[in-house]
Amino acid sequence: RSDPGAIAGRRRVGVMGGTFDPIHHGHLVAASEAAYRCGLSEVVFAPTGRPWQKAGDSVSGAEDRYAMTVLATSGRPDFSVSRVDLERSRPTYTVDTLRDLRDEHPDAELYFITGADTFAGINTWKAVDEVFALARFITVNRPGYSVGCVEPPPGARVTSVEMPAMDISSTDCRRRVAAGEPIWYLVPEPVVRYIDSRGLYR
Ligand code: ATP
Ligand code: MG
Repeated sequence: RSDPGAIAGRRRVGVMGGTFDPIHHGHLVAASEAAYRCGLSEVVFAPTGRPWQKAGDSVSGAEDRYAMTVLATSGRPDFSVSRVDLERSRPTYTVDTLRDLRDEHPDAELYFITGADTFAGINTWKAVDEVFALARFITVNRPGYSVGCVEPPPGARVTSVEMPAMDISSTDCRRRVAAGEPIWYLVPEPVVRYIDSRGLYR
C-alpha cells in the first residue's frame, strides 16, 4: 500500500461516482484496487441522479441503477452506496456530490475515483477548483484512454493507480442485452439476474 502525501491519521473515504447503467466488473475492480493501493477505509458508490453529460440519452431509472449497485457491492463490508445524487432534483455535478459527502464525513479525507476517460474531461467540470479542493483524485487506467495528456489545475492532488485492464463498459453491456448476447461475468451474477427479471435494456 502506498499513498504519498496522505494526511496522517485521517480516515480516507473513496467516492466512486458513475451512472452504473449497469454497474460492471470494471467499476468494481477500479474501486477495489484504489481502496487497496491508497489505504481507503471505505468506498462510497454514488450513482448519479440525472448525469449532465448524458442529458440527451435515455438512462435507466435511478432506482434500478441504485438497486444494481447495492447488489454488486453487498459482498464488501467496506463498500456502500449513497443516495445523495438520487435525492437531488437537479442534474448531478460532482461538486454537489462531494459537498454532500464531505458533510456526511466531516473528519475524512475524500478520494474521488475516476477512470482515464472521465478524468480526461475534468477541466470542463462545474466548479473544478472546488472539486479539487474537496477531494483528492485517484485515476485508474481504462483500455482505449490515456490519462497522460490531461493537465489538472494547479494544486490538484492526483494519484494514479494501475489496475488490471478491463475492457468492459456499460454501453457494451446494454448493447449486448439488446442483441440477446450474454453479459455473464462482465457484471456480477445478481446484476445479471436483476437485469433479466426487470427486463432492462431489451
Ligand atoms: P457508459 O458506457 O454508459 O458511459 P461506463 O462503463 O463508462 O458506462 P460509467 O458509469 O460512465 O461507466 O463510469 C463510472 C466511472 O467508472 C468513470 O470514472 C469511468 O471512467 C470508470 N470506469 C468505467 N468502466 C471502467 C473500466 N472498464 N475500467 C476503469 N474504469 C472504468
Ligand atoms: Mg462512461
